[in-house]
Amino acid sequence: MNRPSEPEDKAIASAAHAAPVGVATLLVVDDSVVQRRHAIALAKQLGVQTVHEAANGIEALALLGTLQRRPDLLVIDLEMPTMDGVELIQQLRARHLDAPFIVVSSREGALVNAVEEMAHSLGLPVVGGLCKPLTAAALQAAMAACQPLQQQAADKPRRAAPTLSLGDLDEALAQHTLVPHYQPKVDVRSGLIRGVEVLARWPHAQHGMVPPDQFIALAEQHDRIRPLTLSILAQALGQAARWNARGLRLSVAVNLSPLLLDSPSLVDDLDRLMQQHGLDADQMVLEITEGTLIDPRGAALGVLARLRMKGFGLSIDDYGTGFSSMQQLTRVSFTELKVDRSFVHGAHRNESRRVILESALKMAHRLRLTTVAEGVETMDDWRLLQRFGCNVCQGFLIARPMPGEDLHGWLRQHKHRLTELRAPAPLNPDFPT
Ligand code: C2E
Ligand code: CA
Ligand code: CA
Repeated sequence: MNRPSEPEDKAIASAAHAAPVGVATLLVVDDSVVQRRHAIALAKQLGVQTVHEAANGIEALALLGTLQRRPDLLVIDLEMPTMDGVELIQQLRARHLDAPFIVVSSREGALVNAVEEMAHSLGLPVVGGLCKPLTAAALQAAMAACQPLQQQAADKPRRAAPTLSLGDLDEALAQHTLVPHYQPKVDVRSGLIRGVEVLARWPHAQHGMVPPDQFIALAEQHDRIRPLTLSILAQALGQAARWNARGLRLSVAVNLSPLLLDSPSLVDDLDRLMQQHGLDADQMVLEITEGTLIDPRGAALGVLARLRMKGFGLSIDDYGTGFSSMQQLTRVSFTELKVDRSFVHGAHRNESRRVILESALKMAHRLRLTTVAEGVETMDDWRLLQRFGCNVCQGFLIARPMPGEDLHGWLRQHKHRLTELRAPAPLNPDFPT
């Protein structure tokens, strides 16, 4: 085994090329000297300025502990003596060393995919999984893909969750501080806007714009989800009515907490709000997460059936992450299926995600449901969804959630992207081979 003397001694400087966007330093962790040399040569060829190396997980952790600047990307072999790649990934998480990484292996692609998924579910910035031998093209693609993750890792400390109390929430509800933001949902063939998803935001004096995962659960636990939802909904419907008046009729999707489905008065509340704003029920989609276990003996199934009879659209959200999907699809008359972003993001380069995504879309089409993919961040995933015949997409590639008054400005900008986004004809329905 090749033990490093001084970590910095092992850094190989390459002055020959300019560094590709975002990756100036790289760490290769592999027990095979030959494979390590190969990866280093490729990285240098691609213009990476500094390449560090380590022969196993322990060496890699020791090295990372001494480096002044964290490498921009780690290339981690899965099978190594002493500490293998999987253990290294777990250790990186335990030590909060969240540098973007790719996993590589000479074993079957399914194993690489499984480890990639594991890292993903641990919330680690995994860029992808590659089979050996590494190629310049694959490494280059991984380096290009790691830029948004570097940004996320850099943003993390600023996004440390604030502690919000029930008192804070009550005050915010009483003062109508919580506001809806809107994320465009666009047609996958044409790129044209079809609707928006309403996402709650809490503009907070100390904590800035607080995202919903930091207050929805609090509202649910303390019986505040109903006033919260009705407040967001009333604002969103007012906004939709103003858009309608300007000739922009958009479908409006709202997230419904499963707790609300237990209350039969929900149907009347929604009906009343729609009438107040002069909107038809078919302009509204109610998103219900797939993880919601609907007790067939409870009120929820009846509430959902009545909502559908009134003409509201019903979307099964986060599809693929729950456990009762098949059963729920038969019990509730959903109109839309929204594939969870964990199967969408990076699907173009991850076979497991791609297979699940494609089969979910196929199934939904056979059930005549509108298909929506969320979490589309790259043009490659967008093109894949076009080839898979997905109907609607939502994601940072198109737009981040925004205040309602920004939508018209966004639409003016978006017009210039339509040519680029449009589906190249004819589409090949059999992709990928
Ligand atoms: P969700 O329903 O799955 O909403 C989509 C989330 O994905 C949003 O996060 C959105 O900002 C984010 N997102 C959209 N495109 C991308 C992308 O390309 N990449 C990535 N990484 N993320 C993307 P947000 O706004 O933080 O909302 C989180 C969750 O909070 C929502 O997940 C929803 O379950 C819940 N939520 C939001 N508003 C409400 C609400 O009014 N009521 C209830 N009950 N839940 C809400
Ligand atoms: Ca949703
Ligand atoms: Ca979702």
